[in-house]
Amino acid sequence: MLEKVLIANRGEIALRILRSCKELGIKTVAVHSKADANLKHVLLADESICIGPNSSTHSYLNVPAIISAMEISNAQAVHPGYGFLAENADFAEQVEKSGFIFIGPTASVIRTMGDKVAAIKAMVKAGVPTVPGSNGPLTNDVARNKKIGIKVGYPVIIKAAAGGGGRGMRVVHSEIELISAIQLTKAEAQSAFGDGTVYMEKFLENPRHVEVQVLADGQGNAIHLGDRDCSLQRRHQKVLEEAPAPNIPEIARNNVLKSCVDACLTIGYRGAGTFEFLYEDGQFFFIEMNTRVQVEHPVTEMVTGIDIVKEQLLIAGGEKLSITQQDVKIVGHAFECRINAEDSSTFMPSPGKITAYHAPGGNGVRVDSHIYAGYTVPPHYDSLIGKIITFGKDRSSALLRMASALDELHIEGIKTNTELQRDLVSDAEFLKGSVNIHYLEKKLALQG
Ligand code: ADP
Repeated sequence: MLEKVLIANRGEIALRILRSCKELGIKTVAVHSKADANLKHVLLADESICIGPNSSTHSYLNVPAIISAMEISNAQAVHPGYGFLAENADFAEQVEKSGFIFIGPTASVIRTMGDKVAAIKAMVKAGVPTVPGSNGPLTNDVARNKKIGIKVGYPVIIKAAAGGGGRGMRVVHSEIELISAIQLTKAEAQSAFGDGTVYMEKFLENPRHVEVQVLADGQGNAIHLGDRDCSLQRRHQKVLEEAPAPNIPEIARNNVLKSCVDACLTIGYRGAGTFEFLYEDGQFFFIEMNTRVQVEHPVTEMVTGIDIVKEQLLIAGGEKLSITQQDVKIVGHAFECRINAEDSSTFMPSPGKITAYHAPGGNGVRVDSHIYAGYTVPPHYDSLIGKIITFGKDRSSALLRMASALDELHIEGIKTNTELQRDLVSDAEFLKGSVNIHYLEKKLALQG
């Protein structure tokens, strides 16, 4: 069992990690930038260390500073949360080389999954359904690329192997555009990610985003914790998520869940992870794997009763999975609304001091947030200030509970996207389930 963990993150996820550490009796070390000295988890941690100035490049992304903080504080392990260094294989490697534990998979698995071409290859090998495509990098051979285009069938999408955050991809509708699109995406990928490798996939026109949560101990045991639907997105950023994904035939669901568990064993996965899929016409297509805890993990915790962060900590401490697949029971339904410090209609960030705050509560309501009255949201980081999660015995009761929770939420001093979330939980199409990944942007465009 781990004794002391350094939390290399900020905001709601840092507090979330601290909570699970406390429950397991693990001591915590918070590291923070200058601007973040008043973060809730910094105030609650056993120790805290300022690791740099406001800019994340010099603080939360500052590997030597974080490793030094581990040395100074005698922390055994580091939890990277999500974002920042969570999927940085070099960081994981540095941590392990310095004699500490990285709470996550091995550096080599992170590296493979961070290269989408390599990740898809690994998935094909493991029997996970992937999007029809080039099954490898595109070369400069024009005739070969055209041949692949015909085989895959237009429209296609050209994607950067090293891409992330929705950047480095281009949709191609016909062969006339193909060659220049490949060149452009290659050049962009080279300058943005330092790697010009691109590949081709069939472009799915109206898919949903459905993902599978897994846990593996790296000692031959892996399980899934069911799926989530995260189709409500704006600019590839998830806005509202739910578990389980609604309206999926049981056979298709069970097949994909099983294939993810098999893949964990094939690739030697360790820790918590997510397989992301596009789902269209009853079929799943793997797009990428996230080798970390995700923002939306609480909806899965609500329907399984399993604390995912606690499991990450136990696995990192060398324990075998104590839960078997038979132990995992998906009960009821859960939603998560991300609350951002931003204007509900213009999406402009709205940092500043929170002058009044009342969080919703009651049966089946969970709030994961670091904010408090008097807290100042700094302008330097992501605008996520919290998440409201609701549980219900079925989809409609969980949704009604969310509507009520959003009505209770009261934040003064800054703007938030609560109004947009209120609108979404009463949206007639969303109520039916199964909206696709373009739904939110189309809806916003209509509202002008
Ligand atoms: P990133 O790592 O940048 O998030 P992903 O591979 O996860 O990249 O893709 C991001 C988003 O781009 C997906 O959620 C989806 O909206 C869109 N996308 C990616 N691949 C396809 C595809 N083959 N067909 C349609 N849309 C796609």
